[in-house]
Amino acid sequence: MSNENQEVIVVGGGPGGYVAAIRAAQLGGRVTLIEKSKLGGTCLNVGCIPTKVLLHAADLLAEANHANDFGINVNVTGFDWKKVLKKKDSVSSQLVNGINGLMRANKIKVINGTAEFVSSDTLFVTKADGTKETLSGGKIIIATGSVPAIPPIPGVKENDHCINSTGALSLAEIPKSLLIIGGGVIGVEFASIYSQFGTKVTIIEALPKLLPLMEGELTALLRNKMEKSGIEIYTEAKVQSVESSSVGAKVNVEYKGEGKCFEAEKVLVAVGRRANTKALNLEKAGIENDNGKIRVNHKMETNVPDIYAIGDCLGQVMLAHVASVQGEVAAENAMGLEASYNGKTVPSCIYTNPEFAGVGLTEENAKEKGIEYITGNFPLMSNGKALIMNGGEGMVKVILGKEFKEILGVHILGPRATDIIAECALAIGMEATIEDLIETIHAHPTLTEAVREAALAAEKIAIHAINK
Ligand code: FAD
Repeated sequence: MSNENQEVIVVGGGPGGYVAAIRAAQLGGRVTLIEKSKLGGTCLNVGCIPTKVLLHAADLLAEANHANDFGINVNVTGFDWKKVLKKKDSVSSQLVNGINGLMRANKIKVINGTAEFVSSDTLFVTKADGTKETLSGGKIIIATGSVPAIPPIPGVKENDHCINSTGALSLAEIPKSLLIIGGGVIGVEFASIYSQFGTKVTIIEALPKLLPLMEGELTALLRNKMEKSGIEIYTEAKVQSVESSSVGAKVNVEYKGEGKCFEAEKVLVAVGRRANTKALNLEKAGIENDNGKIRVNHKMETNVPDIYAIGDCLGQVMLAHVASVQGEVAAENAMGLEASYNGKTVPSCIYTNPEFAGVGLTEENAKEKGIEYITGNFPLMSNGKALIMNGGEGMVKVILGKEFKEILGVHILGPRATDIIAECALAIGMEATIEDLIETIHAHPTLTEAVREAALAAEKIAIHAINK
């Protein structure tokens, strides 16, 4: 039974905060949500959704350019970037309006203002209209998200041609050239967007591989595909400084022990994000944190009773679906139920062309942990639907425990990988084995057949591939 009428204050209205607010209201809480900007947070306004609109537009352009392969006579004369941006903004606004509607429907009081702690149970809010309000008592859920990290590279801050992901979503024109510092998810997605719109894209990544947390073999395949599409990629390359140049910016890089210079009209700095907690005055409430990243337990409780924290402000796995699930957990605990967060089934998705998704252990993780494992790979070239959709580019890879053949991880590079991965997350959550996957009949022709075939390949009985 939940504590009906419990007062709950949520700070931040992103996918963590607004979901926490709705869940607490569903359980009978009297909920106030404080948001300093727009509901939907990074995700709906300057993150997941706007990037996916641009990626969809880029994919449409690529498809239109290849329509002739299927006998469809399309004469692509170009694109209207202003209209692309307009579409992006209209999708975001529609979703943000939807969240406003959900707040009203759930009787959640929304305050447009910035909150800060004055003590462990009191928040001071400076409202957008200039008035002030003090809120105390009740349970508090912190969901203030993250902001782009600015690396201490000389010249970056001073150069107007250096932009972050928010700037890259609203460029007035398509740049002729774009250098991206950072080959993580955000960098790679923007590379996919702008290269498909005709920008010359270069990625500079300090680590030995792009997307360091994703499965290595499939990441190498994606890199290969990106390079074939004209994107230049330098790994183990460290940006030393940025200067101005007639083109826009000159970027000095140390690559393989030597200095190398690149010039680009725009430089996208995508080296990660940091927890957005500076303005909260965490110390006034005594909330433990590591450099601003709030520490919590599996119930999303901070060290201070009745204060919870969720999502990007923890500085851990910065994904919208993680923030939302943590929001549900925090709200349920705040309302007197017992809930805990378990990240075992968190899918990681990258919306490149083709898409890339993974859940569970990578082969590298299994090696590091000393787990004995086997793998099964199935190339999408042998999957009818993939051949139709993207010429069969990509692969499915399953990682299984050697003794019990339980599914430890599944990784997919290919069309709709980000949708197909849900089946694999369910399998891992239910502790399914290879048998469960093989016994499940997958419809033909679908991309999901490739997941089953990868499981068969692990047993060396794949039907549509040569078993080695
Ligand atoms: P946020 O969404 O950042 O929301 C925090 C909110 O708190 C903000 O609205 C902010 O204004 C408000 N706030 C902050 N401080 C205060 C204060 N003191 N008082 C009041 N309000 C305050 N994730 C995915 O899962 N899939 C994707 O495809 C994806 N794509 C992305 C693309 C880009 C370019 C970026 C930048 C991020 C992307 N992410 C993606 C990450 C995702 O956006 C975040 O993980 C998610 O938004 C985190 O949710 P949150 O609720 O923790 O924080």
